[in-house]
Parts: sequence; C-alpha cells; structure tokens
Amino acid sequence: MSYEIHALPPEILEQARSSADGPAHARSVATGGEPLRCCLRDARAGEELLLFTYEPPLPPSPYREVGAVFAHAVPCAGPQRAADAEPDRTANAGPEQAADAESDRTADSGPDRTADSEPDRTAGGGYPDAWRGRPQVLRAYDARGWIHPSTRVHDGSDPDGALAAVFADPDVVQVHSRNVAYGCFMFVATRSSR
Ligand SMILES: [Zn+2]
Repeated sequence: MSYEIHALPPEILEQARSSADGPAHARSVATGGEPLRCCLRDARAGEELLLFTYEPPLPPSPYREVGAVFAHAVPCAGPQRAADAEPDRTANAGPEQAADAESDRTADSGPDRTADSEPDRTAGGGYPDAWRGRPQVLRAYDARGWIHPSTRVHDGSDPDGALAAVFADPDVVQVHSRNVAYGCFMFVATRSSR
C-alpha cells in the first residue's frame, strides 16, 4: 500500500456529537445512502445521523475551506477494514500463541504482519470497500496546503491506481477525496508510513 485513508478523527466526532443543534449542526434519520465520514461507508436506512460543518486539515493557506459532512450521531465502530473481517491470527501461530497475540504483534512489526494489526482508527487503512466504484475528485495538496496540479477526477473503477497516480508527484503530501457534484469532503489520503 502506498497510501493510507483516514476517517474523521475521534476528537472531531466527539465534539460534533456533544454539540447542541444549530444552523451548522443538524440531526436526522438516514434514508439510506448518506456517506458516513466516521465509518467510510453509506448509511443504512434508519441510522441516526449528524450533519455538521467540518474543516479538513490543511496548513494555513488560501485554500482552506469548510463544508458539510455526515457522521453517525452516536459513537460507532469506525471503518471496518479488511483486517477486521478476516483476522489471520491463527495462520502462523499455534493455539497457545494465539492467546497472547496482542503482545506478539507489538514485537513483530514485519511487513507481513501489518494486515492483522489491531484496528487503529487514526492510523489509516486501505481504500474503503463500500466506496469502490464511486466517482470522486482527488484534490491534491502540496506542503503549503495549496492545491497541486495533480488534482483530478476518477470514475471509481480503480481508486488505488488513481491515488497512486496523484501521489506519483513527490510534491503531493496529501489528497482529499471529494464528491463530484456537491464537492463535499469525504476523507484524507496520505502517503503510507509503512
Ligand atoms: Zn460511524
């Protein structure tokens, strides 16, 4: 993986969930399909939603902007990564070793172990499966927080390739994925630290 996808930070979600409703903060019940920036998937009908104003992280620059994002109105599990669904803790460890897999995983940080690491909601993960096939704007930014010319639209059929193409320019330090027509912020992609 050459990049990591980041959902909204927990502290942002906590703040929004504890805020009183107002002109920039609205609760609703999902009709289904609202894109959840906490869990990186579309809402299911009946889920309680919060729509609020968010400023995606950028260095101070003329290109900073705020916009509307949906999240669950109550604390949620966050993005469900492939690693969550298919832990392979038993693949290379006997039963007695699986019991203390927690400490084992800390000690062994080899590249083949990253797939079964404990989910870290702030560390980032792979492309959200639920949003493959969804067209997006990939808004690239340089270290100053200015929009970079690598910015482009992709049709969602190969999001990994599209992100790799944007990050191919070394001046790109982060990418904000945004919806095509509404322009709303979806998530941040950064270069992988692994
Ligand atoms: Zn959520």
